[in-house]
Amino acid sequence: MCEAMAFRKQLIDLLSYEFRSASSLARELGMTRGDVEDDLRHALRSARAAGHDIEIVPARCKSCGFVFGEDRVLKPGRCPQCKGSRLFEPMIRIRRNPL
Ligand SMILES: [Zn+2]
Repeated sequence: MCEAMAFRKQLIDLLSYEFRSASSLARELGMTRGDVEDDLRHALRSARAAGHDIEIVPARCKSCGFVFGEDRVLKPGRCPQCKGSRLFEPMIRIRRNPL
């Protein structure tokens, strides 16, 4: 197994226990959020392809309460409604289906 695949498997494992944000994963792994984003996207795609359910609590604006789309797993830059930048990160969890 190559290094990237092993890392994505580790991400999937971490996401299988509880809801996590990209930032909290990055912190736990000693990386920056930018470093994990790409692998996170791939990990979610392969988890879905393997038949697992992806649950996402969408990002939300702290100022006006605007809720972002569930397709967004990474923290948006700005709120399209009030242009505020204080946002709750999306939270992600993988519900493993026993195959
Ligand atoms: Zn807002």
